[in-house]
Amino acid sequence: MTGAQLEVWKIAKRFQGIVAVDSISFVAGAGQVTGLIGPNGSGKTTTMNMITGLYPTDAGRIALDGVPLIGRPPHEVAARGVARTFQNIRLLADQSVLANVMLGTHLGHRQSILAVLARLPGVAREEREAEGRCRLLLDDLRIGHLAEVPAGDLSYGDRRRVEIARALATRPRLLLLDEPAAGMNHSEREQLGDLILQIRTSGITVLLIEHDIDLVAKVTDHIVCLNFGREIAEGTPADVRSSPAVIEAYLGRDEDA
Ligand code: ADP
Ligand code: MG
Repeated sequence: MTGAQLEVWKIAKRFQGIVAVDSISFVAGAGQVTGLIGPNGSGKTTTMNMITGLYPTDAGRIALDGVPLIGRPPHEVAARGVARTFQNIRLLADQSVLANVMLGTHLGHRQSILAVLARLPGVAREEREAEGRCRLLLDDLRIGHLAEVPAGDLSYGDRRRVEIARALATRPRLLLLDEPAAGMNHSEREQLGDLILQIRTSGITVLLIEHDIDLVAKVTDHIVCLNFGREIAEGTPADVRSSPAVIEAYLGRDEDA
């Protein structure tokens, strides 16, 4: 599995006169973990929504390994190897953990809809293979024992893990994580950090939005800090943590601590 390089160049987005993202440019290097940090309302999720095609951009360019993503609907961006989790968890609460993760695999199926409807042998084999892969993924994420449990019955931290498993089931080249540690306790956060490092080892490029600066510093190669829709600092975790602009706008405050 090889990660793809994400290039974002001068992207912008307004909502009824509010400038959510002004002019943001950065590169998430292939196979690296890039952190996107900043105060609430600074444009982090909007940036992610533009990368995944959920929101059209007002200006700028976005490319994955040099291939333009702008103008493509979310399913086409996903088909190019971009997977994400949401700030507000989106799972089918009454479906099992396994069923939720299996949803991530349907994208990669080679079988036609007609073959699926006719339940041809190749389909059953693909389903079995997909199920096997998903169970391995759940084991990797330490929730293999919860495969048959309805997703709605899980703890918050475990539901976040199911979302990550579902995104990984699509075999992404770029994984976008929007505040994956929100609502997690200390030990769950530590495990999440280890998981992100494992994902990095597998070669997948990661873009991580997260407020827990210790977690971000531990797992990222590079950090971009936003404030009011603009980039105020970029560099290594040590550079960004010691940047006066970042301390002034973000790290010095209590609200996001
Ligand atoms: P962050 O993820 O950094 O907390 P967001 O990207 O969610 O910030 O929001 C940036 C700004 O854009 C905020 O002022 C927010 O209220 C506004 N915004 C985001 N999404 C929408 C939307 N769909 N409609 C209107 N305003 C929005
Ligand atoms: Mg957000």
